[in-house]
Amino acid sequence: MNLPRRQELVFPAWPQFDAAERAGLARALEQGQWWRMTGGEVTEFEREFAGHHGAAHALAVTTGTHALELVLEVLGVRPGTEVIVPAFTFISSSQAAQRLGAVAVPVDVDPETYCVDVHAAEAAITPRTKAIMPVHMGGQVADMDALAKLSADSGVPLLQDAAHAHGARWQGRSVGALGSIATFSFQNGKLMTAGEGGAVTFPDDEFYEEAFIRHSCGRPRTDRGYFHATSGSNFRMNEFSAAVLRAQLARLEEQISVREERWPVLAALLGELPGVVPQGRDGRCDRHPHYMAMFQIPGIGERRRAEVVDALIARGVPAFVGFRALYRTDAFWETAAPDTTADALARACPRAEALSQDCVWLHHRLLLGTEPQMHQVAETVAEVLAGS
Ligand SMILES: *Cc1c(COP(=O)(O)O)cnc(C)c1O
Repeated sequence: MNLPRRQELVFPAWPQFDAAERAGLARALEQGQWWRMTGGEVTEFEREFAGHHGAAHALAVTTGTHALELVLEVLGVRPGTEVIVPAFTFISSSQAAQRLGAVAVPVDVDPETYCVDVHAAEAAITPRTKAIMPVHMGGQVADMDALAKLSADSGVPLLQDAAHAHGARWQGRSVGALGSIATFSFQNGKLMTAGEGGAVTFPDDEFYEEAFIRHSCGRPRTDRGYFHATSGSNFRMNEFSAAVLRAQLARLEEQISVREERWPVLAALLGELPGVVPQGRDGRCDRHPHYMAMFQIPGIGERRRAEVVDALIARGVPAFVGFRALYRTDAFWETAAPDTTADALARACPRAEALSQDCVWLHHRLLLGTEPQMHQVAETVAEVLAGS
C-alpha cells in the first residue's frame, strides 16, 4: 500500500530572537562596561523582572542552580541541616542542598499536578529542616495555599523553585508575590533564556541585601578595601545576558497566551487516547506558562518509553523522557546522602517512582505551533503507541 506520507511536523524554533535581542547586545557592548557593577543592563533587568513578578526585588545570577544554592545558604542551610524536595524534579533541587553539605530529603508528589505532596512534606519536617522547596512542575504552580499554611505553622521557610514558572500566577498573584523567595532559570530551553542565567525574587526586603552581598564574593556594595563581610561566591550575571533577557521578558506574556490556548486542545486530545494521562491542572493556577507538555503512559516501563520517545522524535515531535526520581541517580548518593536506600525511598514515593518510568514530555515550542498541529501531535502519539 502506498499511503501518502504526512508532511513532517515543523514547529517554531527555540530560542526565539529578533531585532530586540540584537539591539540589546549592541547596547550592552557599546556601554563599554560589561559587568553589573558599572553597567546598567543587569540592574534594569532586575527591576523589570521583579515588577513583572510582583516582587519587591530581583537578583540576577549565573544559573538557576546557583540561585537555589545562594538562597539555601542565606536561609541557613549548612552541614547537619535538611531540605525537603519533591522526589520528581530536575537534579538541581537536591544538588543545591547537597553542595552546601545538607541532606536533601525527597518526598512524594501529587499524582495530578506532579508537584510536591504537602502532607508528605509535612511528615518529613524535623528539627533540622531549614527549607521546603516546592517545584512548580512544568509551570503548574504547587499548592501554595497549603504550603504557605504549612510554612506558617512549622516556621520552616519555603523556597519556590520556579525554574519552569516564569509568568505563572496562583489565584491572580504572580509567583514572586506569594510571600516566599522564588528562583528562576534562563538556561537555553527555559521559557526565557540567555543560554544560561538565573534569578531570585524576594517578596520583601528580608534576605535581599544579604543575598546580594553573598552573590558578589561577600563584598558589600561600597567595599573598596577588600573587607568582604561574609563568605559567598561569584554568582553575578553579566551585562550581555541581561540585555538579551530584557528582550525575552518583553515577549513572555504573548507566548504564554498562545501556549495557554494550545495546551487545553492538546491535553483533551491526548486524554482521549487509551493509556495516556495528561498532567492535570489545579485551577487555582490561573496563569500557567506551560514549560513542558507532560503526560504519563501508566505501566509502559522505561524500555518501551524510550522507543516511544525515539519514534516521536523521528516523526518531528520534540519529545523527552521525564525526570528520573532523584534517588534513582548516582549523583544523589555521592554527597550528603540520607541514611536510607533507593528502594525504601521508592516505596515512600510511589507516584514519583511511577513518573520516573512512565512520564513523557514535549517541548514548549510545540505549543507555539498552530491548532491543527495539536491534532497532528495527538495523531502522531496515537500512531506511535499503536506501534505503527
Ligand atoms: C532548569 C532547572 C533548574 C536549574 O537551572 P539551571 O539554570 O539550568 O542551573 C532548577 N530546577 C529545575 C526544576 C529546573 O528544571
